[in-house]
Amino acid sequence: MTDAEGRVYEVNNHLVQMLGYSQEELLSETMRIQHLLVPEYREVRARAWKTLVSQGASLPEEKVYVRKDGSLLPTLVAAATINQERSRALVMFLDISDRKEAERRKQEFLGMVSHELRTPLTAIMGLIELALMQIDLRLRSLAPDAEELINQVEQVLKRASGQVEIETRLVEELLNVSRLELHKFELSLRRENLVTIVQETVANQQQAARTRHIELALPPDAVVPVMVDAGRIGQVLTNYLTNALKYAPVDRAISVRLEVGASVARVLVRDQGPGLTLEQQQHIWERFYQVAAPGHQGPDGGLGLGLAIAKAIIEHHHGQVGVESAPGRGSTFWFTLPRASKETLE
Ligand code: ADP
Repeated sequence: MTDAEGRVYEVNNHLVQMLGYSQEELLSETMRIQHLLVPEYREVRARAWKTLVSQGASLPEEKVYVRKDGSLLPTLVAAATINQERSRALVMFLDISDRKEAERRKQEFLGMVSHELRTPLTAIMGLIELALMQIDLRLRSLAPDAEELINQVEQVLKRASGQVEIETRLVEELLNVSRLELHKFELSLRRENLVTIVQETVANQQQAARTRHIELALPPDAVVPVMVDAGRIGQVLTNYLTNALKYAPVDRAISVRLEVGASVARVLVRDQGPGLTLEQQQHIWERFYQVAAPGHQGPDGGLGLGLAIAKAIIEHHHGQVGVESAPGRGSTFWFTLPRASKETLE
C-alpha cells in the first residue's frame, strides 16, 4: 500500500522476498518505492499515478525494479486507489522474470537459427550466379535444341535467384529483430547529410521499380546534418518505400518528402494504397503483425517485421515513427531524427 510520494504503508512477505529488502526497510519513513525503480521507469510511475487519481485504477504496466543485491526484477504492476481522496493505492506486483527469460531465449534462438540459415543461402546464391555466368560465357556453336534447353535452364535459374533473394531478406529481418531485442545492435553514428541519404535511397528504389513513379520533395537547405548510422536510416526509408510500392496500386505515385523543423528533421512517405484503420495503425509496429485484409498482402509474403525493425532503429537514434492514414485514403509513414547542432558541423 502506497501513496503518490511512494511511501510504503503496508507490504506483504512476498514482495519483501521479491525485492530483498526487509519489511522494516520498506516501511521506513525515508523509503520511497520509486527509488527502487530503474530510472527510465519513473516516468511510467508518475503517469500511472495521474491515471490513479483521475480514474481510481491503473492498467497493468511493465516496470523493472532493482533488488537490494543490485539484480533486476522485471514486474507487471497494476494498482487501484483504496480511499475516497484517491491518495492511497493498493499496488500489485507480478514477478515476470521467467517470462522475460523465456523471451530472451526465444530471441537468442531466433538469432542463432537465422545466422545458421544465412550461410548456406549465401552459398546457394553464389552457385546460381556461377551457373548463370557459365551459361552467359558458353560457346555460341550449340545445336538449336541444346540452345533452347540452356535458355530454359537460364530462366529457371533466374527465378530461383529471385526466390533466394526474398529468402535472404526474410532471414536478414529475423536476424535484425533478434539483435535489436537482445540489444546486440551496434550503430556506427556519424555526421551525415540526411538529404543525401534520402536522395540515394529513393534513387535505389526507383532503379529497382522503374515503372513506378516516386516523387521527391526536398527542403531548400542542401545540407541537413544528422548524427546517424546512414545504412540503418537508409534501411528504414527503404522499408517504408517497399511497403508503399507493395501495397499501393502500380499506377499511383508515391511521394517522399523531407521537412526540416527547429530541432528535428522529418521524412515522410505518402502512398495511395488501401490505408489503415486506427487499430491497425497501432498494431503494425509490433513484430510479426500483418494486416489480414484484402489489399494488404504483398506479392512475396513478408514476416511483419519490417516496421518493428524500423521503429527500433529510429528509437535507437532518439527519433520517432508514426503513420497517418484512413481506410481507402492511402497512408503517410514518417520518422523524425534530431538535427545535429551547428557546432558539431565539420
Ligand atoms: P511486411 O513484411 O508484412 O510488409 P511490415 O512490418 O513492413 O511487414 O508491415 C506490417 C504490416 O503493415 C503489413 O503486413 C501490412 O499489412 C501493413 N502495411 C505496411 N505498410 C503499409 C502501407 N503503406 N499501406 C498499407 N498497409 C501497410
